[in-house]
Amino acid sequence: MKVIANYIHGELLAPESGKYIDNVNPSTGEVYGKIPASNAFDVDRAVAAAKSAFAAWSTLPAAERSGILVRIADLIGEHRAMLAEAEAIDNGKPVSLAMQMDIPRAEDNMRFFGTAILHWSSEAHIMEERAINYTNRKPIGVVGCISPWNLPLYLFTWKIAPALAAGNCVVAKPSELTPMTAFLFSKICIEAGLPAGVLNIVHGLGSEAGDAIVNHSGIKAISFTGGTITGARIASVAAPKFKKLSLELGGKNPFIVFDDCNFEKMLRTALRAAFTNQGQICLCGSRVLVQRGIFDRFVEAFVKKVSEMKVGDPMLESTKTGAVVSEAHMQKVLSYIELAQTEGGTVLCGGKRVIVDGACANGFFIEPTVIVGLGPDCRTNREEIFGPVVTIQSFETEEEALALANATEYGLAASLWTADVTRAHRFSASLESGIVWVNTWLLRDLRTPFGGVKHSGVGREGGWEALRFFTEPQNVCIDLTA
Ligand code: NDP
Repeated sequence: MKVIANYIHGELLAPESGKYIDNVNPSTGEVYGKIPASNAFDVDRAVAAAKSAFAAWSTLPAAERSGILVRIADLIGEHRAMLAEAEAIDNGKPVSLAMQMDIPRAEDNMRFFGTAILHWSSEAHIMEERAINYTNRKPIGVVGCISPWNLPLYLFTWKIAPALAAGNCVVAKPSELTPMTAFLFSKICIEAGLPAGVLNIVHGLGSEAGDAIVNHSGIKAISFTGGTITGARIASVAAPKFKKLSLELGGKNPFIVFDDCNFEKMLRTALRAAFTNQGQICLCGSRVLVQRGIFDRFVEAFVKKVSEMKVGDPMLESTKTGAVVSEAHMQKVLSYIELAQTEGGTVLCGGKRVIVDGACANGFFIEPTVIVGLGPDCRTNREEIFGPVVTIQSFETEEEALALANATEYGLAASLWTADVTRAHRFSASLESGIVWVNTWLLRDLRTPFGGVKHSGVGREGGWEALRFFTEPQNVCIDLTA
């Protein structure tokens, strides 16, 4: 049994209640660890630790803060294989994916913001000889970071790194479904010499530990990534307390294919966009929209490739498609496949649970699934399924494509495929989407603004946007005539 601990004031501590939650390995269905069931008392302790560390951390020269964050990045790199294995066991994702994507990105996050802070500067607004205004961007104080289970260490560090770089102290909670790499990260922070209390990690249920973070009067800002319903709940608690809020929420992203695109590259990318991480990425292209002229060719080629995808033990190097995160999530995804058929859709391939031989026989695996025959108004095409399920619809004109693309409450990321750069520019501008990838998908530059519109969120992460979120701008006006 792997028993994990909270990280409070530099120490690894048991929860005050002494209670633990089971940690299940989704690829075997077995309980393999215990997670602290932390409550408001633990959060209170974490906030007190963060408050006590704030004066020293926020006034430490940026170069020294940077040095510690870069050291954390180095240690993530040194422990990459161990962290990737832990992520795969905890989440069900292929270890090869964790090695190539999750853990390198966690390292990049720490290094990116650890060095960005060295280049951070403030604006000045000069009123000729009358006055000088300058903007003093001060760290907020104690901030809360709450992250989801799909990209555990990747998204955990994406929030924590800019918060710490800007001089804040943090109380963070990873998803209770995937807490292991956050726990290992706390050990890395200790090894890197992060001063006690600067980062505090409280494990437990969202409804208890998460809620206590959002409610705590000592926490001045909340950065949350997760589902839209949870985001709405968090906003309803935090807004009346006038906390600064960043919400990165769900997606139902269109993958829009015009008939002049590079077909082979588009096909390879459509597969990745639909099924990477078992379709459990907020950016996944789960609604494929294809122009009529190449619709049949696309469906045939896509279904052939999807049928060849092998679902298997995430711990094998050769596995490209692993387990979904939990039994409850598997049932939710399967129920959406049933719903799609009730709504009149046809399952062209997949659609069922997979029983993997051997140690993974009780794991939570689902066949990559392709559905056609559904219009934009049905729930299957409007609601986030967040699993290995993709629908394909056809369109004739650019106007039809746009109407289909925008026909959900979400607006996170779109992928647009065309050789016509004028159309790409025109179409992108009309897409209700925070991110548009043209002839690519999930190509990330950490300096760019990241986030969604409509029900996909409020605010932007990434680059200076994140450092702006985690600081409070103060205008200082000096009268030069005095
Ligand atoms: P949830 O909204 O269920 O949970 C996210 C986090 O919030 C978890 O740590 C959870 O804890 C916690 N939480 C739950 N309830 C509360 C509460 N009342 N108060 C405070 N915290 C709470 O999301 P999932 O973990 O299921 O993640 C999947 C979702 O995340 C999808 O909708 C996906 O689209 C979205 N997502 C968005 C991204 C983006 O950048 N826009 C990126 C990645 C994912 P616990 O798990 O312990 O309940």
